[in-house]
Order: sequence, then C-alpha cells, then structure tokens
Amino acid sequence: MRRKIVAGNWKMNGSTELVEQLVDPVRDGVGALDNGVEVVIIPPALYARDVLVRARGRLSVGVQNVSQWRSGAYTGEVSAAMAADLGCRVALVGHSERRQYFGETDAVIAEKVAQALSAELEVILCVGETLNEREAGDAEAVVTGQVRQGLARVAAAQWSRVVVAYEPVWAIGTGQTATAEDAQCMHRAIRQALAEAGAPAETISVLYGGSVKADNAAALFAQPDIDGGLIGGASLVAEDFLSICRAM
Ligand code: 13P
Repeated sequence: MRRKIVAGNWKMNGSTELVEQLVDPVRDGVGALDNGVEVVIIPPALYARDVLVRARGRLSVGVQNVSQWRSGAYTGEVSAAMAADLGCRVALVGHSERRQYFGETDAVIAEKVAQALSAELEVILCVGETLNEREAGDAEAVVTGQVRQGLARVAAAQWSRVVVAYEPVWAIGTGQTATAEDAQCMHRAIRQALAEAGAPAETISVLYGGSVKADNAAALFAQPDIDGGLIGGASLVAEDFLSICRAM
C-alpha cells in the first residue's frame, strides 16, 4: 500500500497575510478528510515556521530547495539540517524551475537529495521533460535518466523517505495538463526505472504535477501508478487546494 500525498508548492508566492488566511482553513479541511491522504505545505523557507505553528501537526511542512552542502560559508543557502531543525519533514529537490533558472544539474540534485536524506528529511524528487524533448520522442529517456541520476546516492535504508514527482515542464503553470493516460504511462516508466535502480519501486509514491486543478485531479488520481499530486497555483487558494485533496 503506497502513501497517498498531495503537496502544495507555493513557489515564490505568499506573505505573512497569506499564511494567516490559507493555512488554518486548509488544516481544518484536511482534518475532516477520511481518505488517508497526507497533505504537505511547501511555502518559501522564510515562512516555514509560521506555517508549522498553524499546521499543528495535521499538515506536514516542507522546503522548496536545500543546499547541496552541509553547512559553512555558503551565503544565502539554507541547509537540509536547518529545515529539519525547524520541524520541516519534506524537501522538494530538483524542481524544473531550479533546473531551468538556477542551472541545477542531475549531479547537483543528487547531492541535494543526499543532504536531505542524511538530515532525516523526506525527499520529493521532481522530474519532467520539456516540450522539445517530448516532441523529439525523448520524454521517457529524459525522465527516467533524471530519476536514475537524481537518486544515484540513495542508500538502501533511505528509500522509505523518497517520493518522486513527475511534472512535465510544458504542463507547469500553463493550464495544459498531461492526459491521465499519458501521465499513467510515464509513472509506470518511472516505477520501472526505480526498480532497475534497486529501489522497492512498488512502495514508492509517484506524484503528478502540472496544472492539477479541482476538475482534473480525480481522473489523474484514479490511475494505478499516480499516488497523488504536486500542486502549484491551485495550492494558493484554500478551497481549490482542498478540492484536490478531496479528489484523492
Ligand atoms: P502548477 O500547478 O501551477 O502548474 O505548478 C505545478 C508545479 O510546478 C508544482 O511544483
């Protein structure tokens, strides 16, 4: 039985005011659910403590990125150990925006995964192909390559804290989601790549992200290899996010 997870990635959005408006209704709404979904809020790191206080243990809290280094003279960086120290349970690693705008390579991402796991965090490794890569017929090779390389340093005892999120880059923030069938196909391929990497693939949750909304979530979540969602825009509105959590 795999964990069912819905995670809200706020990206670089939010404010103290948004935390005050959003977290309490989400926490109370999730508290009323009985579908077994685990809900994670991933705000900008500066707001993680405020979100944690309001989450009251009913929501997990994560960070959107961690440093590839453990500690020291790396101005501006936030370490995995700091996130764990604060009470965060989850680190997002390798989001396509990090790859695209901050030049994160699979090698750097593998370092970040290793740091997060050694700080006892759970990791959500994000993978996904660009439109060019899909049109060239390379989507599956790109995505399974990112899985293999990003998770190259995971130790046998750490797999229980690994989650993968498939987010096709062309579906992020575009309103254009993958069809449930295409997403299922890729999720199956990801699971196969996990098995080939020596992971207990059937136990690892694989989430879908990219324009997930209340009206398409149920069809995606009904697929056998889709274990939840990574939500951007819709995670910034309590009722929209809760509708997605309910669709699980
Ligand atoms: P949207 O839901 O806004 O498309 O963003 C998806 C995403 O990138 C979540 O990490």
